[in-house]
Amino acid sequence: MTSELETNRRASSDTQQDWLERGKAVFMNTYASYPIVFKKGKGTYIEDVNGKKYLDFVSGIAVNSLGHCDEGYVEAITEQLNLFSHCSNLYLNTPAIKLAEALIRNGSFDRAFFCNSGTEAIEAALKLSRKYAKQTKGEQCTTILTMSNSFHGRTYGALSATAQTKYHQGFHPLVPDFQTVTFNDIQSVQSIDPKTVAALIIEPIQGEGGIHVVDANFLKQVRDYCTEQNIVLIFDEIQCGVGRTGKFFAHQNFDIEPDLIALAKGLGGGFPIGALLAKDKFASAFQPGDHGSTFGGNALACAAALFCVNTIENSEFLGSVERTSKQLRDALKKMQDSGNGIIAIRGLGLMVGIELEFLAKPIIQSCIANGMLILGAGDKVLRLLPPLTVQPAEVDEAVTILTKVLAEQKSNLENG
Ligand SMILES: *Cc1c(COP(=O)(O)O)cnc(C)c1O
Repeated sequence: MTSELETNRRASSDTQQDWLERGKAVFMNTYASYPIVFKKGKGTYIEDVNGKKYLDFVSGIAVNSLGHCDEGYVEAITEQLNLFSHCSNLYLNTPAIKLAEALIRNGSFDRAFFCNSGTEAIEAALKLSRKYAKQTKGEQCTTILTMSNSFHGRTYGALSATAQTKYHQGFHPLVPDFQTVTFNDIQSVQSIDPKTVAALIIEPIQGEGGIHVVDANFLKQVRDYCTEQNIVLIFDEIQCGVGRTGKFFAHQNFDIEPDLIALAKGLGGGFPIGALLAKDKFASAFQPGDHGSTFGGNALACAAALFCVNTIENSEFLGSVERTSKQLRDALKKMQDSGNGIIAIRGLGLMVGIELEFLAKPIIQSCIANGMLILGAGDKVLRLLPPLTVQPAEVDEAVTILTKVLAEQKSNLENG
């Protein structure tokens, strides 16, 4: 038991080292976290408990789409909090209805199901697809095709849909009837007997897999094939959707529509929410009792997401995402041309992958030391996911830090 004295000592201890030790003592060992404990943020900056400020080009992994503490966002959540937070899906609530309407008006979908995370949006997509396939193609039609190098989440269905086997280690047996086919290879997709295939799931931009944009021609071939064979086409836009690419949905860059789409991350701007959107033809496979979530479609979460969607769908907002993306990409291209160890620059909009000649990890650590947060995506790829609201001067600042850090690393490696 913790003594009162101990509790008081803890309440007054506020150095980062204290917090790190306390965290280490109580959390399961699931994350190799950086030794930083955050306290508050504003816009593109976040501050740790020691008062050190960081330029945040991680955004909680594409979550804080409007940056930290956006005024309108705080107001929208506060307003809903003062009305009510939760009432269960035994009843309806106005923010959830408005959010579903807002998502539907931005794309080609008819219906929404709300949940609380990306992996749950994938679970809903898998269950809906299997039910639809059983009804329309027969009981034996259960296979889900997934792309090599994909990532779809950590719960058993989504984990089974994740093709990168490093995420499976220690957790077998997985859910049966998932088959990996080769990303960007239509022949590989067509090599599986289509009578057995219920659905195909694909990230239009692979995120955890290293920021790989799908080939436009492959995506079109997949769309045509799925239509021909009555295979449910699921897009996982959990990371790349909701404005991240400069279009509301990432697939709008390809003029191709999926049957189902999974969203999460940036949708709630920091409030946990996931969504599955579907066309009527597929959505109708779900009947009362088939699927559900206690928290899903919670009024508070939906009010947060509604504010994000209302903000992001605006063409001026999306135009500014395109402009800052271009600014960032032009600067990175210059960096590449000047020989700073950059092999390739990938992604779309403000989802940027930078493939390096050397390991990404030391670069990430140097960036942290220089007051900037960035991510990796595989051993040699840096990933930039700034808030969609990032300002031109902040892009300049990020480029300055990255230029310095890459030049230092390059010269370190060259001088032994
Ligand atoms: C993050 C992510 C998921 C999982 O989302 P969680 O909210 O962590 O469950 C699934 N698919 C993609 C593409 C993601 O980036």
